[in-house]
Amino acid sequence: MNNSIEPCKGLENILQRAADGSLKGFMKVFALFHAGRCKGCGTYLERMELTIKALREGREHSENEEALARLKAKVQELAKSSD
Ligand SMILES: [Zn+2]
Repeated sequence: MNNSIEPCKGLENILQRAADGSLKGFMKVFALFHAGRCKGCGTYLERMELTIKALREGREHSENEEALARLKAKVQELAKSSD
């Protein structure tokens, strides 16, 4: 346990996997339990969750925008060729 804003040594990977949801079973329970009691790991986990959430939302958003732009271009193309 520590009071810095850095996670405990060797726990970064486990905390990242806890944040992205790929950590299961006992290790997840351990990671969440530890993060709840350790300021450094708790802060790190929170930051990772926010980062992953932002990345996922950003990616979905840009994919949707891209798909929409392609669809619009296709529609315009079809409209032009039918003239
Ligand atoms: Zn810790």
